[in-house]
Amino acid sequence: MTMKEKELDLSTFRARLEAEEGPRYWRSLEELSEDENFREYLFEEFPRQAAPMGEGSDRRSFMKLMGASFALAGLAGCRAPVEHIVPYVNKPEEILPGRPLFFATAMSLSGVATGLLVESHEGRPTKIDGNPEHPASLGASGAFHQASVLDLYDPDRSPAVRYLGEVATWGDFLTALQRQLEQAAGGQGGGVRILTETITSPTLGAQIEALLARFPGTVWHQYEPLGASNVREGAQLAFGRYVDTIYQFDRANVIFSLDSDFLGAGPAHLRYTRQFADRRRVSGGAQTMNRLYAIGPTLNVTAGMADNRLPVRALDVEDFARQVAAGLGIGMPSGSSGPHAAWTAALVRDLQANRGASVVIAGDGQPPAVHALAHAMNQALGNVGSTVTHIEPVEVQPVDQLASLRQLVVDMNGGIVRTLVMLGGNPVFTAPIDFDFPGALAKVPFRAHLSPYYDETSERSHWHIPEAHYLESWGDVRAFDGTVSIVQPLIAPLYNGKTATELVGALLSDMRSAHDMVQERWIAQLGGEEGWRRVLHDGLVPNTALPATSVAVTTVPPPTQRPGQATALELIFTADSTIYDGRFANNAWLQELPKPMTKLVWDNVAMVSPATAARLGVANEDVIELTFGGRRVHAPVWVMPGQADESVMIQVGHGRTRAGRVGNGTGFNAYSIRPSNALSFGPGLRVRKTGDKHKLACTQGHHRMEGRQLIRAATLGGYLQNPAFAKTKLDLDEHPPDLYPEFRYDEYRWGMTVDTSVCVGCNGCVAACQAENNISTVGKKEVLRQREMHWLRIDRYFEGPDANPQVLHQAVLCMHCEKAPCEPVCPVEATSHSDDGLNDMTYNRCVGTRYCSNNCPYKVRRFNFFQYADFETESLKLGRNPDVTVRSRGVMEKCTFCVQRIRRGRRAAEKEGRRLGDGEIVTACQAACPSQAISFGDLNDKEADVTRLKATPLNYGLLVELNTHPRVSYLATVRNPNPEIETDRI
Ligand code: SF4
Ligand code: SF4
Repeated sequence: MTMKEKELDLSTFRARLEAEEGPRYWRSLEELSEDENFREYLFEEFPRQAAPMGEGSDRRSFMKLMGASFALAGLAGCRAPVEHIVPYVNKPEEILPGRPLFFATAMSLSGVATGLLVESHEGRPTKIDGNPEHPASLGASGAFHQASVLDLYDPDRSPAVRYLGEVATWGDFLTALQRQLEQAAGGQGGGVRILTETITSPTLGAQIEALLARFPGTVWHQYEPLGASNVREGAQLAFGRYVDTIYQFDRANVIFSLDSDFLGAGPAHLRYTRQFADRRRVSGGAQTMNRLYAIGPTLNVTAGMADNRLPVRALDVEDFARQVAAGLGIGMPSGSSGPHAAWTAALVRDLQANRGASVVIAGDGQPPAVHALAHAMNQALGNVGSTVTHIEPVEVQPVDQLASLRQLVVDMNGGIVRTLVMLGGNPVFTAPIDFDFPGALAKVPFRAHLSPYYDETSERSHWHIPEAHYLESWGDVRAFDGTVSIVQPLIAPLYNGKTATELVGALLSDMRSAHDMVQERWIAQLGGEEGWRRVLHDGLVPNTALPATSVAVTTVPPPTQRPGQATALELIFTADSTIYDGRFANNAWLQELPKPMTKLVWDNVAMVSPATAARLGVANEDVIELTFGGRRVHAPVWVMPGQADESVMIQVGHGRTRAGRVGNGTGFNAYSIRPSNALSFGPGLRVRKTGDKHKLACTQGHHRMEGRQLIRAATLGGYLQNPAFAKTKLDLDEHPPDLYPEFRYDEYRWGMTVDTSVCVGCNGCVAACQAENNISTVGKKEVLRQREMHWLRIDRYFEGPDANPQVLHQAVLCMHCEKAPCEPVCPVEATSHSDDGLNDMTYNRCVGTRYCSNNCPYKVRRFNFFQYADFETESLKLGRNPDVTVRSRGVMEKCTFCVQRIRRGRRAAEKEGRRLGDGEIVTACQAACPSQAISFGDLNDKEADVTRLKATPLNYGLLVELNTHPRVSYLATVRNPNPEIETDRI
């Protein structure tokens, strides 16, 4: 059997295995060759071919031989293929090869925008950063933004209009749609329904309103599986109408979070993280900092930053909120103060002492009553107008989305709906399970779905229209405060995608391009072409933030009734922190991005507290059966310190069947047991141990510091008494004895600090580093062998009791040690020191001995055991940063301090005959960080921020006892717990 034949047979093997075990994902032939099943398969399918291979048909010999032959095949292909560079024939005027251009645009999630700046190389968007001018970003970006560039080039995106699964054309669809509309109740739109996600786009909103006016029988439904539903209904309950709420965390001394993750999720979380961090930074000499109290069932990003935290079930948060509200003179408590009476009383005193300078905020998963209570507390504390502002809703038409979807399902089942046009979303996968959305959908005679992938909903629709990516689209969208951004494309649609604006335009027989529609709407208001161009340049329309509106809480909502909640085991449904509601499931960067708290990748889990795990007799990787509302699903267990007892949390979004080759079949489908009466959580969960095991890939093997001083922490009081608490004798002794003389850096000497006080552990920097530096993903199987390739990792440690630990985060990257242990052990000098202090890697010199990695105490070097980088898929090549080598098999790699940015900056400065100024070189991780935890600069510059921070008493080095002289150092953690509350946390 020839190698070609084996390669050809991969697809047969893959199809057979997928049919038996569900979808699988391999990057390469070499990776597959390690699969025992594949070798078995070849032996069974090709016994005749096996015999002439020289070792007879003995199974063991054959398997050995196959392994060797594949390894050789891998060696033959272990370097990237030669490619030829072809210059432009006619060069576009504005393009200089090698010099990127930057464009402003915006990405929306659940309808709400974050302003971005996108780097483009010769017309190819390659890297995304936040727009410093945009209120939701302030220059920062999150993992979803960073990874969206990979979605753009995803070869699994739908490339064509389909009718009943067969390729069709946009023209075919328009003809069919027109016929359908003409028939719809005599052209009045009777029986026509539009289903959208949340919409804030003024242009799209106006189009839908025009559609409803033109076809009065048409009805608009909205549904978003996650997001602001409880927030919206909470405002309705508190104020009698929908309003949105904005917080000013930079003005708050005390913050009380009722199961809110305002630092880790939501349309304003980047801004809120910046504001929160600004009040916690003591490195500048501040003597005070804010204090965060958090209660809730799970350790999310926000709870991990809490100074005082109480783990309580999601079901009990409302009772707790009522007790605090009662302490503030609002309503009556619905339960006894119980074991937390002292905690509550101390919190109430702190809130009262900071009237007008505090914030009470409820989480998206909490019911409307908790949101209404939070509004009442903010009002009673005088926070409204100071730290809390209400504005009119940013949504075009806020509605009770669950009721809206329920009505649609009822009408579909009743045969009323004749035409359904779904603009985005994936309701077949995400709708509440008791709605039986697929069953109701099947009764609609004409169903069309606009979607970037031919997904679970497209599969059940007559028509599928590929949706354009936001980097291919014209549009407009509002941010959390109402600010409008123009979404402008950086590239023509790669897969013939259409936007929602174009599709609704087609419904209105308006065949103009999305550009023309959006421009026409804004150009007059912006003062003509010049104003339009300015807005495209700036990325936002000035003065479109919505003004404050005046509302008041008049009544305290009655308690939410849930039979049997007192003793029941609860089940919580939450967004997956890396693939959200499942829409990012086919994004390998996000699947392989460690979850902030568990550090798991490529899976979702059932999280239980250590005490509940002991009661249930389960441990990590045990598969349990969750029975909820009469439905069952199997899930692997993850025992999570800090999780509330009797509370099991699962993440939605996994278990996809039509996500694409990357996302199909990862994890289990939590939506399959998610009912409409417990979209966020509910009591009555039953758990049964199945006896099965499911391997989970976790990028951090140990979660305790075991008395080592990796992250050094103190309370604010302790810090003020002893500002140099983080210094050990080794830190204080800047020049321990050495055989070798110090090297003199006459020009630049690059260095970095990471402030562990303000790092929230969001992983945005990790995703940014991956995007900037063409870092490959490796797949779950390789992560299980600890072969993940991230150049930067966030180590997360638990300190204190398992039931309620303190969380500490530490970004660990190459330390660019002055006395780098990796350098002297490299036999070919592939790793060496530069004259500006970088620890360089020369890839094409590396022979792969991995001595350097063995000798690195920080374990930040990554080795390409296989050909992880995809050199085959054309579309993926477009997304690479051309300034960074794409590494091939057998090469060691690690953080370079974004050397390409340094060199580009140095060249520009040298041309102008000057030195680089502080802040001119910004590393990718630094740029993304919403809390500004990372500082980078020239240590030869006495005025540089990084030099100043390294001189503060909080500065210390990691493993300095090894005399490595790391260029990356850390600022110790300072926390501000309430001294009145007894705790064994830091
Ligand atoms: Fe990655 Fe650059 Fe940050 Fe290093 S400095 S971790 S290469 S983003
Ligand atoms: Fe998030 Fe990284 Fe900044 Fe920490 S350093 S807050 S993990 S972006």
